[in-house]
Amino acid sequence: MIRIAVTGAAGRMGKTLIEAIASHPDTELTAALERPDSSLVGADAGELAGIGRNGVTVAGDLAAVIDDFDVLIDFTIPAASVANAGLCAEHGKKLVLGTTGFNDEQKAVIAAVTERTAVCQASNFSTGVNLCFKLLDMAARVLGDDVDIEIYEAHHRHKIDAPSGTALSMGEVVANALGRDLQQVAVYGREGQTGARQRDTIGFATVRAGDIVGDHTVMFAADGERVEITHKASSRMSFARGAVRAAHWLATRPPGRYDMQDVLGLH
Ligand code: NAD
Repeated sequence: MIRIAVTGAAGRMGKTLIEAIASHPDTELTAALERPDSSLVGADAGELAGIGRNGVTVAGDLAAVIDDFDVLIDFTIPAASVANAGLCAEHGKKLVLGTTGFNDEQKAVIAAVTERTAVCQASNFSTGVNLCFKLLDMAARVLGDDVDIEIYEAHHRHKIDAPSGTALSMGEVVANALGRDLQQVAVYGREGQTGARQRDTIGFATVRAGDIVGDHTVMFAADGERVEITHKASSRMSFARGAVRAAHWLATRPPGRYDMQDVLGLH
């Protein structure tokens, strides 16, 4: 049994993760965490997730439960994830990191942590999206510089970062396949007198509305035809199952940086 801790336990992903851990035959929830000032500290994690009492009490301090788990699954906010990553490195705990929206400084801290413990980080833990990354690499190589490439993403009204981490990862896959630097070629939204489109740019369009779990489309448009690769998530369970699968896989890995492509053997 792999002993897993979930932080952000009361969040949209946290609750789904608790359910996914309970339904995996080889994983067990042994700790759950929330913000220290959350009114849910002290609650039963199973009840919180709507799967019935499981006897795991939500804690507010990772250090206090550090001996209770092997792998931490963290889908929270960047500042909390960076602090948790440091503590995991210090205590040799593995980390599955799903939080998105890190700035460059925070990314550097995470990179340093991967030298000390095993970290599996992905902007999207769903199997379908990771397959799409592979298909995008292939499409970009075949269609190459003859097409305009645009990325569209839509999410629920509560999402706090844009474009989505998944859209950015899709952009990186395409840019890498074409030998472009995403930082140089990305165009984030357009307004007013933009001028004609430059061929090597990669455009991003963001929609925030209702309860959309996560839609992504990458369009490769030429004169006379276009190819679109689309993924639509209809439930957070797709991310949660992937993250639990990653935690199970990560438990026996040496220190290093891993992603969902490693877990699925797609590299
Ligand atoms: P959410 O706001 O519903 O949940 C976040 C939870 O983290 C909240 O309950 C909050 O109280 C808690 N939290 C904040 N600071 C904390 C701290 N210091 N200690 C413990 N808990 C803390 O958000 P969500 O929709 O569940 O998404 C969370 C993150 O996961 C976002 O960055 C989102 O983009 C990302 N996400 C990633 C994937 C993926 O597959 N990689 C999928 C979905 C969401």
